[in-house]
Amino acid sequence: MNPAQSAATSQPLLSIRALRYTWSGDAMPVINGLELDVEAGQRVFLAGASGSGKSTLLALIGGLLAPDSGSIHFAGTDLGALSGSARDRFRADHLGVIFQQFNLMPWLSAVANVRLGCQFSRQRRHHAGDAERAAHELLSAMGLAEDRWNRRADELSVGQQQRVAAARALIGQPDLVLADEPTSALDVDHRDTFVDLLFEQARRAGSAILFVSHDRSLAPRFDMTRELGEINAGSMA
Ligand code: ADP
Ligand code: MG
Repeated sequence: MNPAQSAATSQPLLSIRALRYTWSGDAMPVINGLELDVEAGQRVFLAGASGSGKSTLLALIGGLLAPDSGSIHFAGTDLGALSGSARDRFRADHLGVIFQQFNLMPWLSAVANVRLGCQFSRQRRHHAGDAERAAHELLSAMGLAEDRWNRRADELSVGQQQRVAAARALIGQPDLVLADEPTSALDVDHRDTFVDLLFEQARRAGSAILFVSHDRSLAPRFDMTRELGEINAGSMA
């Protein structure tokens, strides 16, 4: 391996530098000089109080918002240098997202919701193989009873919807799963079970996890913890 190749393979999966974002109408940036690295396969816990900018950061990483300044590199690609459509494709290929409110399609079945996770990415469809079967395997692994698989998402309990949302994020082996306080609606037992299952499936898929939450009691289970207030001057305002 030549030095250039070895440098390329040793770079972090996600590398954020001097990131800044200000919501329109706000005087102060909510993300202000943020720096963060995530390695391939690493499980990172990002702690921050409510309103500190966790969801804003995930939207920036997902390319749903464009930063005022700073950079986000993903597997060596500068997201800021991509056109809008290239960024959408990049997101579909590389990121799985578990939203705080899950954002399932209420009228679609659990299986159809999971399949959506690879619908917009040829790469993830390729990894998934038979998407129907991959969805079944993930739902089973996440502990959703088989008699729920073809139920509409809006007929599932919060805990069941959360398993569907995780399976959707994991299908097709994305490089990184972004999880936005996915356990906030769960009691402690369900929360711990969910995190165990999420970790196991992410490990099998080779996916890194960036998990944001105000609930610091989860932190010891992760490979690395970062405080938003320490990596981001904006959240101290
Ligand atoms: P967290 O996820 O840590 O609770 P958010 O990223 O949702 O925090 O919000 C951080 C700050 O950004 C808050 O002050 C919030 O009011 C503001 N904010 C979030 N979303 C929007 C939006 N869509 N428009 C304007 N301001 C927003
Ligand atoms: Mg939030």
